[in-house]
Amino acid sequence: MKLKYLGTGAAEGVPAVFCNCEVCQTARKEGGRNIRTRSQALINDDLLIDFPPDTYMHYLTYNFNLHGITELLVTHSHTDHFYAIEFEMRQEGLAHPTPEKMRIYCNKESEKKFYELLPSKFDADKYFEIIYAAPFVPIKIKDYTVVPLLANHDKSEECLIFLISQGSKTILYGNDTGFFPEETMDYLEKNNVYINLLSLDCTMQSRSEGTNHMGLMDNVEMRRRLEKIKAVDENTIFIANHFSHNGGWNYEKMAEEAAKVGFLTTYDGMEVEI
Ligand SMILES: [Zn+2]
Ligand SMILES: [Zn+2]
Ligand SMILES: [Zn+2]
Repeated sequence: MKLKYLGTGAAEGVPAVFCNCEVCQTARKEGGRNIRTRSQALINDDLLIDFPPDTYMHYLTYNFNLHGITELLVTHSHTDHFYAIEFEMRQEGLAHPTPEKMRIYCNKESEKKFYELLPSKFDADKYFEIIYAAPFVPIKIKDYTVVPLLANHDKSEECLIFLISQGSKTILYGNDTGFFPEETMDYLEKNNVYINLLSLDCTMQSRSEGTNHMGLMDNVEMRRRLEKIKAVDENTIFIANHFSHNGGWNYEKMAEEAAKVGFLTTYDGMEVEI
């Protein structure tokens, strides 16, 4: 299974839209891996995770076939993960030939926003099927098994992270979240889940948080908790992802600190294969 990080930033991106802090100034000056667009990932070439406002730019930069993608997992309704108004563009007359229906697997709040934000004259159901991704209920998508797990994030909705398996390999795509809630840990333990690639939220980088997002030391603690229930071990690939300028580190510093504790640091365009 191949995981490509199309975007690796938090809601405001790096440099942040309206910011002039030191991290953002450095990012603007040095460019390269310091530039982080809003988070999105692509599994192989057919399973998309999240739909931020930068989706169009990701499509231009990485040249993937968005017309042909029919399966979209959505973690939660925040605009950096679900920029619903763009979906209007997948309609007859604007997309040729008319694309196949896209299935969007998401929580109830994302579904609500989907219908609220799109113009009422747009026949959304003709082009999209919204499927409720119930926590802990496996979904078969093509030859993947996807289990939506509960995140520890915005408490006003059922935020999700995704356990994605294909053949004998499993990825846990885990942002946005603080320390995983008990129900998620229980699910992993009771089902003897083994994770080959663990991708964690590291929004706060140098700072610890754990209740809504995580920092690098929280990631290390999260790994320890998962080791304890044997969900990960020394053969697991550990990745820190989803960064904010508020974490205080540019790419180089982040990568250096993460390497010390055995984590890889994502950058826009990074690909990992398991
Ligand atoms: Zn986010
Ligand atoms: Zn900034
Ligand atoms: Zn969020």
